[in-house]
Amino acid sequence: MSMKRLELYVHIPFCERKCEYCDFLSFSADDGEKRAYVAQLADEIRAQGENYRDYLVSSIFIGGGTPTTLSGIWILEIMNTVRESFIVATDAEITIECNPGTLSKSKIMHIKKAGINRISFGLQSSIEEELKALGRIHTYKGFLQSYQLAREFGFTNINVDLMSGLPYQTIDSYKTTLKRVCELKPEHISAYSLIIEPGTPFFDKYGSGEETALLPDENEDRSMYAITKAVLKEHGYERYEISNYAKPGRECRHNIGYWTGVSYLGLGVGASGYVMNRRFHVEGDYKKYMSIKMQQDITPLYCDIEELDTKANMEEFMFLGLRLIRGVSRHEFNEKFGVDMFEVYDRQIKRNIMLKLMEYNSPYLRLTDKGLDLSNMVMSDFLLD
Ligand code: SF4
Repeated sequence: MSMKRLELYVHIPFCERKCEYCDFLSFSADDGEKRAYVAQLADEIRAQGENYRDYLVSSIFIGGGTPTTLSGIWILEIMNTVRESFIVATDAEITIECNPGTLSKSKIMHIKKAGINRISFGLQSSIEEELKALGRIHTYKGFLQSYQLAREFGFTNINVDLMSGLPYQTIDSYKTTLKRVCELKPEHISAYSLIIEPGTPFFDKYGSGEETALLPDENEDRSMYAITKAVLKEHGYERYEISNYAKPGRECRHNIGYWTGVSYLGLGVGASGYVMNRRFHVEGDYKKYMSIKMQQDITPLYCDIEELDTKANMEEFMFLGLRLIRGVSRHEFNEKFGVDMFEVYDRQIKRNIMLKLMEYNSPYLRLTDKGLDLSNMVMSDFLLD
């Protein structure tokens, strides 16, 4: 019997301190609280494993929050529980997100022992003033120590997250960060532009008023976007998604799975999942989550379950797939939905090809460079009435 493919996302909601721009589900907690969460999460993993006996887990992503605020032993315990409860492929890509200020020798040893083979560092910037403005707990020096530690312990697949559009950031300071990181030769770099979300201290500070002057203006922002592409290309990084770059063959398998519609199961408070045309969210209220009695009937675990109809599935397929530089596969679309992509989206495809925002190179329909710059506008065209 051939097994279905599944990706796992494991959410750890703890951080040492809340960053000023952050709107993720994360908060600080003491060791007692963390211990209780790990126990509850382990119960959830065991209960869910029973429902996915015919799936092969091809990738695992432990994210947050900051998963490395947990002790190494707890990280090992979580991974052991995953392996006991799910069938994990021997070559699975297993990533842990790591804040450089939270890594020690003992922790990295446990991470290695847990079979985790990819580390994602949330560096964001190499300039102290910018890190401070973000409210990050680490320094660039601290990042370098953590990065070297990961290399010493044999990690050969490392991602570094970077951000542009930060307070105090200039074109030159951004170039410095890019150059410093490229010289370290991580296998993968994610480069996002800061989004100031309502409800964060950042929004109150920089959302309007005089302090907005500390942010790069629109022209500088556009230049940073162009510089990212140019500098990373010069250093041998291929852009394979709107904001993601990798050395050849080092693209993040977990994220590619997500963008190409592979089923994924979210575990832990507030995590989301998408399996068999159903999208669902684990209870996001921490107190409620902790009070759920984990059992094989996972209905109480979810705060919402949405059945996606064919139309919604097609839209999702296009929105996510068009983020990839290679684009969406006409073959995969036709196979998945039993109808030709060019029939369903005839008007949109013709129009965007005519405007040179898209191009078709069989079997892939992709955004051109101009289309990628205007991706939100092009993608909104693919909403079906
Ligand atoms: S480390 Fe990440 S998840 Fe934690 S508060 Fe900062 S931005 Fe949010």
